[in-house]
Amino acid sequence: MSERKTITLIPGDGIGPEISSAVCEIIKAAGVDIDWDIQTAGADVAVAEGTPLPQRVIDSIKKNKVALKAPVTTPIGKGFRSVNVALRKELDLFANIRPCKNIEGINTPFSDVDIVVVRENTEDLYAGIERQIDENTAESIKIITRAASERIVDYAFQLALKNSRKTVHAVTKANICKLTDGLFLDCARNVAKKYPQIEYKEILVDNLCMQLVQNPSRFDVLVLPNLYGDIVSDLTAGLIGGLGIAQGANIGSEYAVFEPVHGSAPDIKGLNKANPAALLLCAVNMLKHVGFLDAAVKIENALYKVIKDGKVLTSDLGGDASTTEFSAEIIFNL
Ligand code: ATP
Repeated sequence: MSERKTITLIPGDGIGPEISSAVCEIIKAAGVDIDWDIQTAGADVAVAEGTPLPQRVIDSIKKNKVALKAPVTTPIGKGFRSVNVALRKELDLFANIRPCKNIEGINTPFSDVDIVVVRENTEDLYAGIERQIDENTAESIKIITRAASERIVDYAFQLALKNSRKTVHAVTKANICKLTDGLFLDCARNVAKKYPQIEYKEILVDNLCMQLVQNPSRFDVLVLPNLYGDIVSDLTAGLIGGLGIAQGANIGSEYAVFEPVHGSAPDIKGLNKANPAALLLCAVNMLKHVGFLDAAVKIENALYKVIKDGKVLTSDLGGDASTTEFSAEIIFNL
């Protein structure tokens, strides 16, 4: 086992603090030595410190290199920049990796889903360049650059290579967004030439959505600009049983922030109902990333056993267990 590590923990808001504390307890019970550098961010912090993402949070991640992040609410409308988006930009976490594979015990329409969504994380409509032209008109600028597009496509091919995957699909709407998605596609075609051992394919995002809900086993690695990646990864999460089990990671060349696909779920905040599995799977990945391999596998196996047994499940997975009962069952199975 590796030596003791300090890792930044952003407990987030909404269901974030509940699922963070469940995950920290499970990791502790697995015998992993982590000193959590707890950094709050979000709406309450904005009231207290004048910004939802204080510099101390960035500094902590820069120091520790790795963070586990629970969701932070992004209010719809004006006056609040998304903490998630800002963090990805500040730390140049250019790749958002969202694996979606069936988990035994979760009944879904398809049993052969094994897809990795590789989402570009720094530009596209997420650049947040919007302007109100007049009372009845607003515009948003979609930025796509060659540097960011080549970098993300290359990452997708590298991931395919390392994980013995066979196909990479570049996903765009290049028939309509001819210049922006056209550029992304041009980059994808260029990068694909470097990887003759991996099959390269292209698909339009609307067709992809239809194919995913009809025959998801056709797909392996998907690489997409930021907004399509956000939307499609919620769809693929749905294919394997929903947001409660959908993990994700934001990776850059220097830092990594592990965070689930789901948001802060304000509708179930404080009810002890949230499924901590997505954040736990992120933590498992994070433990592998920092070298705690044995503990990561132990936690992963305990989680999968609890889901397979099907006796103690949170309501999103069809059970009636609380967050604390579900995590206690995982600890029992470690
Ligand atoms: P964001 O835009 O921040 O991603 P969102 O609007 O997509 O957020 P979520 O917060 O992800 O919304 O929630 C979508 C639905 O999924 C809600 O009904 C929520 O209760 C449910 N949900 C999300 N995460 C979980 C979880 N961990 N456990 C149980 N239900 C969840």
